[in-house]
Amino acid sequence: MAGIYVHIPFCKQKCRYCDFASFPDKIGLAESYMACVYREMAMREPQLKDYKFDTLYIGGGTPSVIDESYIAMLVAAAKKHYNLDKNAEITIEMNPGTVSASKIDMYKKAGINRFSVGLQSANDEILRDLGRVHTLNQFITCAKLLKGENFSVDIMIGLKGQSLQDISQAIEVSALYGASHVSMYALTPEDGTPVYTDYLNGELPDSDEVAEQYAFGVKKLKELGYERYEVSNFCKKGKESRHNLNYWRRGEYIGFGVSASSHIKNVRFTNTFDLDEYFKCIISNHFAVVDSEEISPEGRRDEYVMLALRTVAGVDTEEYEKLFKVLFDREYAAAIEKNKDYLNITPRRVSIKDDYLFVQNNIIIDFLEERK
Ligand code: SF4
Repeated sequence: MAGIYVHIPFCKQKCRYCDFASFPDKIGLAESYMACVYREMAMREPQLKDYKFDTLYIGGGTPSVIDESYIAMLVAAAKKHYNLDKNAEITIEMNPGTVSASKIDMYKKAGINRFSVGLQSANDEILRDLGRVHTLNQFITCAKLLKGENFSVDIMIGLKGQSLQDISQAIEVSALYGASHVSMYALTPEDGTPVYTDYLNGELPDSDEVAEQYAFGVKKLKELGYERYEVSNFCKKGKESRHNLNYWRRGEYIGFGVSASSHIKNVRFTNTFDLDEYFKCIISNHFAVVDSEEISPEGRRDEYVMLALRTVAGVDTEEYEKLFKVLFDREYAAAIEKNKDYLNITPRRVSIKDDYLFVQNNIIIDFLEERK
């Protein structure tokens, strides 16, 4: 089954590390934007009428910053135009500074059954420095409103002035208030963001320190009952993000909205990042795709391996052989031999050992470069 992604590109303010398509000064355009998204969904319907979807992910940006009625209409539009499974996982991303009991109530009534909350840090000083619009207390209020729901918390490592104690607190507060899933990402200082200047000034932790923070976080998460299933993702039993698992299994998905990307029938395509261009295209009944690439048979194999090696389960060699009609062990013999100390190898699976998952890039590069 396939997934649906919808991008809501509005935020209260721009975080200092953010290079996503998000426009804090354009929030007044939310109504027109959502009208375009509903239209884009209708425009794609004929191409996807044979598809079954079992996840809908509403991300951003900050989807919770816009009026909740737009979100309810969005879920209704997805159900109207697409064959969305009745047990579909429907997720919305939320910023704790933008939620209320009535919003969450409407989300639930609309059919949303999973919530992804951006905490990032439990230290208010760090949150301020990042340009986040919320405090730890607002996160706690939000988490209390989500009591009993299936919700995930995003936390970050590699932040300026961040101690292991800070990371511990962020994980503890997530667990204490009942998160079923935690995503722990290392900050990437993107060129052009204010945080990049911090990086150039040597104010961010170096790679060894970040690796130590990551190992610390993994241990803490494990102690609190969160199992790692992908390099940055941890969950209670059975609470994996189905939407993201589909990405890592190289599944198909359709994206709507500015900057949204899609993978359909071995073609990867991306919508424009420019909000005005998106409006112009959709209003004139054109798709807003600016980049499209058909993935070659070799490229498909590389993608499959690269994505699977990010996960704890690794490559299912039988599935690989069924999909691509080539023997995995033979095709990647050189990379397997070179990296055998870092790999778990069983007759059915090849995965990266726990201790090396965080530094997987070099291993993955070997797989891509040394394919026969
Ligand atoms: S809330 Fe998320 S999308 Fe919005 S500015 Fe911050 S990091 Fe970017």
